[in-house]
Amino acid sequence: MISTGGLEKKYGRVAALQGLDLEVPQGAVYGFIGQNGAGKTTTLRILAGLLIPDGGWAKLAGRDVLRDPRGVRQVVGYMPDFFGVYDDLRVGEYLLFYASAHGIRGDAAHNLRDDLLELVELGHKREAFVDTLSRGMQQRLCLARALIHDPAVLLLDEPASGLDPLARVEIREILRELCRMGKTIVISSHILSELADLCTHVGMIREGRLLRQGPLNEMLAGDRVRRFIMRCHGSEDAAAELIAGWPGASVIGSVPGQVEFSLTGGAAEVAALLREIVDAGTEVIHYAQTEQSLEDTFIQLAREVNGA
Ligand code: ATP
Repeated sequence: MISTGGLEKKYGRVAALQGLDLEVPQGAVYGFIGQNGAGKTTTLRILAGLLIPDGGWAKLAGRDVLRDPRGVRQVVGYMPDFFGVYDDLRVGEYLLFYASAHGIRGDAAHNLRDDLLELVELGHKREAFVDTLSRGMQQRLCLARALIHDPAVLLLDEPASGLDPLARVEIREILRELCRMGKTIVISSHILSELADLCTHVGMIREGRLLRQGPLNEMLAGDRVRRFIMRCHGSEDAAAELIAGWPGASVIGSVPGQVEFSLTGGAAEVAALLREIVDAGTEVIHYAQTEQSLEDTFIQLAREVNGA
């Protein structure tokens, strides 16, 4: 759905992108991860047809960003990381304005406005001034704007930055809904755990180059030590004993109903241990890698790529 090859962009002497190769499959929720200044915004702006690269190529839905920027803009919805200032503009008017920019007017525009406000749960704010919305609400309104022309691809630049935990959950729910609608979504972030339970694919960018990309499961399933939490209904004793005796596993700690442990191995080992715990009679209600270990995994990946 989205692919780039050898993408390059310089700002004066700063090389923001240095040969970036991306591959985002159709229907993916692609987490685009990198530190501040890694080149995420530059990439998304090029993909949105808003910035011209100095070298390489980029295609979205079969359309070439350089040769057909208009065509690209028709299939892309872009949500920037910065929401502009809109004095004296009401929420409903804001969406009608952008609808008309896409040639949608009259009843069609009013219906679209109401549908989108409902999707982003801002129906009750239709007559409110945009500047009076909270940051989370402004983000959701910005998302509604990006959806006005029903694009197949959504590019979201740090959609959850600056949001409180509840607002993050709200935006995550909306993104899940968009995913169910079949959109291909790219979300940039430097907060890894923010993306982990949302993405199907992950790409890591550093200094304008892609370090690694692929399905999330594969990225996390390498042969490395990871930390897990298992929660159960009833006593954790039997499970803790089983884990302690399992090759490559060791118990970090246990409290009633919960065991934290580390495990070396890939997806097969993780699944085999769970099967054994369940077969031994423990009623497992939660079995997952901890968020912290996700961070560890990505840092480890970055080190491996750098040969450290
Ligand atoms: P952040 O997470 O901070 O938004 P990013 O990964 O989105 O970072 P970019 O904004 O793409 O990174 O920036 C990549 C590099 O290009 C950085 O070194 C940045 O300072 C530089 N850069 C970006 N925009 C400009 C500009 N308009 N003029 C000069 N340098 C720029």
